[in-house]
Amino acid sequence: MMNKTAGHLKTIRQHYPDAQSTADAVERYLDLFQRRLGLRPSDILLADSICADDINCIEYPQRASQMPGPFKLGGLDGFPFAGLTGMGAFAGHVPDHGAVFIYHGPHIGITKEGVLGQILRIGQSAPSGCCGACRAALAKLQAGTIRPGEIDELDYQQHSLEQIVLTHAPRILNAPHPLKEATEVIGEAIASRIDLLVSRTKYKARYVILAGAVLINSDYDVGSFTAPRRLIVKDLQTGTTEDVLSVYQA
Ligand SMILES: [Zn+2]
Repeated sequence: MMNKTAGHLKTIRQHYPDAQSTADAVERYLDLFQRRLGLRPSDILLADSICADDINCIEYPQRASQMPGPFKLGGLDGFPFAGLTGMGAFAGHVPDHGAVFIYHGPHIGITKEGVLGQILRIGQSAPSGCCGACRAALAKLQAGTIRPGEIDELDYQQHSLEQIVLTHAPRILNAPHPLKEATEVIGEAIASRIDLLVSRTKYKARYVILAGAVLINSDYDVGSFTAPRRLIVKDLQTGTTEDVLSVYQA
């Protein structure tokens, strides 16, 4: 995985300068948790809130399997649609005195050629959209066809994403790359919803760790990348909360 991704890191970094392969990111997370918090992977229950897209199963990093999980909190484009009940169920599964670790974020494709918003999938000869849900929401935003407050039961998740992008319409539409900006907007909405769900959930664990990122997919034979946005460590015993992203990146 590392060799396959390494050659393409330069292309990915043209769009996301701080990206690294997701496999490397998981190594770094686990090293940091061991060093700083004394946690072994088996002490850490993993959840993710990432897009339901099948590419995210295909590109799931191997080393993550050392942690029990993942519990899947995310629906379309990674928004934590599993809600309070999902978070509550996950909280009840944590190893005694261990930690919960939630990797959350939207995703975006970048082809080997560096085209943003697309990837080449297994068995296909032409690239397709990634994230399809984010692209569809953006297309409706650009066409001016999102109706405020409209959330249809038959397409609940997509309509919820549309409402999020609608709230930030000028920021997205005036950005140099609207899809990239819409991805950031959805990432911020995911982070604040995760924070709200965490604040209303009781954990038996000592630590709650929240890794916010943009998950970057590429063509099926390349693998995925992570551009980190935050790394929050909540110590439930002392009541302290700290963003250790700069320690992680050092
Ligand atoms: Zn997606």
